[in-house]
Amino acid sequence: MSRNLELFERGKQVIPGGVNSPVRAFGQVGGTPRFVKRAEGAYFWDADDKQYLDYVGSWGPAILGHAHPEVVKAVQDAAVGGLSFGAPTEGEVEIAEEICKLLPSVEQLRLVSSGTEATMSAIRLARGFTGRDLIVKFEGCYHGHSDSLLVKAGSGLLTFGNPSSGGVPADCTKHTLVLQYNDVQQLADTFKEVGDQIACVILEPIAGNMNLIKPSAEFVQALRALTEQHGALLIYDEVMTGFRVALNCAQGLHGITPDLTTLGKVVGGGMPLAVFGGRADIMAKIAPLGNVYQAGTLSGNPLAVAAGLTTLKLIQQPGFHDTLSARSAKLAAGLADAAREAGVAMSTDSVGGMFGFYFSDTVPTSYAEATRCDIARFKAFFHAMLDEGIYLAPSAYEAGFVSIAHSDALIDDTIAAARRALARL
Ligand SMILES: *Cc1c(COP(=O)(O)O)cnc(C)c1O
Repeated sequence: MSRNLELFERGKQVIPGGVNSPVRAFGQVGGTPRFVKRAEGAYFWDADDKQYLDYVGSWGPAILGHAHPEVVKAVQDAAVGGLSFGAPTEGEVEIAEEICKLLPSVEQLRLVSSGTEATMSAIRLARGFTGRDLIVKFEGCYHGHSDSLLVKAGSGLLTFGNPSSGGVPADCTKHTLVLQYNDVQQLADTFKEVGDQIACVILEPIAGNMNLIKPSAEFVQALRALTEQHGALLIYDEVMTGFRVALNCAQGLHGITPDLTTLGKVVGGGMPLAVFGGRADIMAKIAPLGNVYQAGTLSGNPLAVAAGLTTLKLIQQPGFHDTLSARSAKLAAGLADAAREAGVAMSTDSVGGMFGFYFSDTVPTSYAEATRCDIARFKAFFHAMLDEGIYLAPSAYEAGFVSIAHSDALIDDTIAAARRALARL
């Protein structure tokens, strides 16, 4: 019996579904999740000691590849000095200064331990600052699992969202409006109707939780203009895109200055660390300065800060993001070529260290379009690639991640494997 299967069976006895986060259970693709024994660079090894070229990278953090020696050393050194203090440290000031330097829109920030915490706190802050209750999100964007953000679209424009999870009272989502990504008209109509009640609009500025979907320039410009006109805050949830799509993040690519930004994944270098920050006058509303409460026993944890700080230094090496972008673009183009040769309808896209592939003729621009892709084909392709030793996200609705350890040669190997896998579909 495979050791992966053995661990999965054992895990299921004591952990719901055998996993600590749902997508890890391979529910959409079927089969046995790979239990990771260790990882290094672009690879991980599973419980059966099989090697995989990893395009998940912990869902984003592993931008330098796994277990980068300098990051590991920084964490080891920090650990020797104590694991957690519940009192401020120099490292926290240093990483805050570093992030503020890289992101001009962020004048002040708070460190937290997960992206969920970052977005939840940013929303509370936006409501506290504006004195308004309504929030706007977009269908298909994921912002963690706090109650007010676990919402699916209602039946029409200006109907409030319904909870998308059990255990979330409708009362918790009755202030959340769910709109369509890239729909400028709907956004404008909404602001016309209830703009003076909207505390904030939160979005994935490049969506990576409904596969990879880019916003139009018109859409992000409308977001900035409408929020500004109506006194609502614009929150760029860059938990996934932050430091991955570019050194100055999606907001840098868009030329947009959001009021608040959330960061996670890359910023923690693989450790539990996330950030919310933005305009100093807004951040001044946070306790102890203001009346918006937010706290955390492990916030600014010294090991997480050491990993994050070292990662931020390493990604500032000249040409880092250019190289990363070129590798992702090469992969996206290679996959599209391979599909064309195999006569399979597939489109692809990439930005920075993120890529998407869609079993449909066109690149989707909304959740509705993303969910129109051929899931049966995705499943077959996923397993064919897994057999080839290539580990893709076990879901058709997640972006893929390339690290700097994914060399040109490894990208070539991946494209060759995809050609064989597609031929077998
Ligand atoms: C991953 C993610 C989150 C949630 O972060 P966690 O650390 O998993 O809580 C929030 N927003 C976006 C855009 C994400 O990709």
